[in-house]
Amino acid sequence: MTCDDCGRIATQTREEYQLCDRCYTKRFSTITIDGKNMKVSEAFKLQLEKVGLGRKEGESMADWCGRCRAWASPTKYGKILEGKA
Ligand SMILES: [Zn+2]
Repeated sequence: MTCDDCGRIATQTREEYQLCDRCYTKRFSTITIDGKNMKVSEAFKLQLEKVGLGRKEGESMADWCGRCRAWASPTKYGKILEGKA
């Protein structure tokens, strides 16, 4: 069974839809931050902006990803990025 939206393996299946975890989260999940309930993607964007990692106007995806990777440097988050416990 594949996801209706992206074609990956569906893990969330109902009569109305078959979705992978990522697409299910994108479509239905919300988070409350500072008393405001918002979609996960909005919450993620807000948190990136709070630490100065919002995507700048005209910034390429590669440049933006590079800034984010530099911010989350191995000295700060190496164990998480490398999958070490
Ligand atoms: Zn999907």
